[in-house]
Amino acid sequence: MKKEVLRMCIACRQMRDKKQLIRVVVSRDNEAYQINQPRAEGRGAYVCKTEECIDRCCRSKLLNKAFKCNLPATIYDDLKKVELNEG
Ligand SMILES: [Zn+2]
Repeated sequence: MKKEVLRMCIACRQMRDKKQLIRVVVSRDNEAYQINQPRAEGRGAYVCKTEECIDRCCRSKLLNKAFKCNLPATIYDDLKKVELNEG
């Protein structure tokens, strides 16, 4: 049996399998960010691959809160561009 790796979504605060989440990583100087890059290093946060959670994340700027810093606004545009594999 494969072990599930659970992480918490910053929007709905549910624990989910990593595969159902979008991983956002911000570099230690808070200047660079990467979305869904497997080898990204830095501080990470997770958002469900659902429109609802992405929307909530963008409206309330939850990534800024999760990382406790001001991130470029483009991070939310890029988050919205992530392909959702629903269904
Ligand atoms: Zn969520």
